[in-house]
Amino acid sequence: MRIVDVRERTIPISRYADSTIPSGGLTTSLVAVVTDVIRSGRPIVGYGFASIGRFGQGGLIRERFAPRLIATGTLIDDAGSGLDPLRAWSAMMQGEKPGGHGERCVAVGTLDMAIWDAAAKIGDKPLHQYLAEHIGNAAPMSRVRVYAGGGYRHPENDLSRLSDEIHRFTDLGFTHAKIKISSPSLTEDLQRIETAASQLADPSHLAVDAMNAYCPDDALKAAHSLAPLGLWWFEDICDPLDFETHSRVATVYPGSIAAGEALFSRAEARLVDRYAGLRRPQDILLFDPVHCYGLTHYCEIVADLTERGWPRSAFWPHGGHVFGLHVAAALDLGGAEINPFAFAPFHGVASGLTIADGFIDLPQVPGIGFELHDEVRREFHRLFD
Ligand code: MG
Repeated sequence: MRIVDVRERTIPISRYADSTIPSGGLTTSLVAVVTDVIRSGRPIVGYGFASIGRFGQGGLIRERFAPRLIATGTLIDDAGSGLDPLRAWSAMMQGEKPGGHGERCVAVGTLDMAIWDAAAKIGDKPLHQYLAEHIGNAAPMSRVRVYAGGGYRHPENDLSRLSDEIHRFTDLGFTHAKIKISSPSLTEDLQRIETAASQLADPSHLAVDAMNAYCPDDALKAAHSLAPLGLWWFEDICDPLDFETHSRVATVYPGSIAAGEALFSRAEARLVDRYAGLRRPQDILLFDPVHCYGLTHYCEIVADLTERGWPRSAFWPHGGHVFGLHVAAALDLGGAEINPFAFAPFHGVASGLTIADGFIDLPQVPGIGFELHDEVRREFHRLFD
């Protein structure tokens, strides 16, 4: 059982439903991993992509990691019947030194997603079921708690557009939402929060994300201003490695803090746990299973931090796409993000999935189920069909 071909394509991806609004030139990588397993006359192909927010990884994938996957020997699992994602991961990481994660972790994670998709397809199971069996979880969740991510600042008519967006979230069945803050002025942030919260049951249903933009002084000012509002959580407050500022904020901000979206390894996860002032009973961990060297390494992060006292309910994987739903269900995590309108083609949910009262059911086809989403299927089939 081998991987015989890997195809990659980098595509633009926008933070806005209207892709003509400038979005910083953001891109992502799509990959198709072709196996030598033939079903109904066609090879089993795993699909993956580089999640959201870290640009395409075509160079690293094509020049370094895909050749190792293709060159390695058999990837059959110990049972002798399936593809072993852990063996594939070890093949990709051959010769890589510890530390210096850069963005190679995103390249590896992109391929890792496609390998898990292929492995679950070969096992003829939805990924959440396949993964749960793989890690010994006898009862994965049948539905996952979700919230709607979005609320990016619009260059024009920002507040009315924001209000409309949050209203549309609730129409879709979401009860909780997350918007972006760290506007040029704190007054503007507070207006955005008031506008968004007014469309939800109350402010405890709204999380805010500062996108790691606050300097130390502004982070503390924002923490003092947001403290009385009773928000769901306060996310990505300052530079992801500025643990000193982070821990100072944690001493003055009584609500939940969310961190870890821009940390990409188990070593960094341990650092944020030890030095960022996080409070295990109440704070939120956002590590992205794709950006953290893939699901294979993400499972190690979850195992490591739960051993150190974190509840599984603290993990809400970043990304906002269907892969996160499988991960949350199989690992019994707190929930997952969905981007209803932003980041096409990976926006919204596949046809057949239902959101109600803040929960979503799970795809029941083999693999991740990208094929259930018309736009996503079209993009992947351009790589391999
Ligand atoms: Mg964030």
